[in-house]
Amino acid sequence: MAGLRLENIHKHFGSVVAAREVNLTLPHGRFVCFLGPSGCGKTTLLRLIAGLESPTRGHILLDGKNITRTPAHKRNFGMVFQSLALFPHLSVGENVTYSLRVRHIKKDTRRKRAAELLDLVQLSGFADRHISQLSGGQRQRVAIARALAIDPLLFLLDEPLSALDAKLRESMQLELRLLQQRLGVTTILVTHDQREAMTMADMVVVMGPDNRVRQVGTPLEIYRQPSDTFVADFIGSSNLLQGSCMGAREVKIGDQHLVVAEMPAGISDGTSVTVSVRPEDIHVLPGAEKGDNRLHGTISFIRDVGSNVEIYLNCNGLQIISQSTPKGRPAVKQGDEATAILPAGSCVVLKS
Ligand code: ATP
Repeated sequence: MAGLRLENIHKHFGSVVAAREVNLTLPHGRFVCFLGPSGCGKTTLLRLIAGLESPTRGHILLDGKNITRTPAHKRNFGMVFQSLALFPHLSVGENVTYSLRVRHIKKDTRRKRAAELLDLVQLSGFADRHISQLSGGQRQRVAIARALAIDPLLFLLDEPLSALDAKLRESMQLELRLLQQRLGVTTILVTHDQREAMTMADMVVVMGPDNRVRQVGTPLEIYRQPSDTFVADFIGSSNLLQGSCMGAREVKIGDQHLVVAEMPAGISDGTSVTVSVRPEDIHVLPGAEKGDNRLHGTISFIRDVGSNVEIYLNCNGLQIISQSTPKGRPAVKQGDEATAILPAGSCVVLKS
């Protein structure tokens, strides 16, 4: 099969388990993000793919060929580390083509390739500069160009943008995504920043604190149909309401009933479940409204940050958070009675 495949990969360092029974198929040409909280095994998985670590168990296959024991320098993968690891005593051009020098490529060819790569990352004319004369964003681009110099089969990035300030980070995310689309190179980025993963990836691999892969999907699938409460909570924000199943399409939450669009397979009456509802799917109306999926309560807090408004509603001890645009802001204030409408199609039922 074309692409990268991880089969039953397990890695431990002494008694610490870094990655548990990972099975993944990453087709060529994708931008994949490994996303998860600190310590969940993202970097370990990337280092296993790069050949910088060996798995305790399992196999890594590239286009059907077993590369588990292939040394890192023979895999032809480009890697950018969090620290960038640029050579301070070499010029920008020499840094970019270092891997070609090691491969004994002639000086003229190297110089030409450096110019092409620097053009690609918008650093034309920087070849003779010293690394110390560059800004953080420019160093980032040099590290990217250096990793691309060998026309890598896989482009591996370990949180390369984490040291940049928020604005520069956002513009580099876009730049990197456009560069990957232009080159079509299969790319894996490690990040713990869910917004970064959602912006850049066309495939997200979410890892949990138990060092297992919890879900693989497009950013929208992960956001709209989270596989469990961990994913629902980690990606964006969500109202997670504990309840129990009642019949084919109803969940009892405290003394309220919620109608849901569908119930996961294998759930019977009385089973404990969690209903996940995104804040932007919840509408708030002034006053007490009766009807299906309407929860009545008091506005406990309103957070208006300009671009959106969050409304906190206390429904008999149950906290509901709704989010709207400034234009869609309901006519309510703190202390008012109000009703939250939770549309059935937005209520995703997860096994507790
Ligand atoms: P972060 O986002 O903080 O970088 P991560 O998801 O990339 O975290 P890893 O760096 O892969 O996580 O680490 C996974 C687990 O393995 C952690 O508990 C870590 O302490 C442990 N670990 C990683 N490398 C080693 C090592 N060389 N020796 C011992 N334990 C290690």
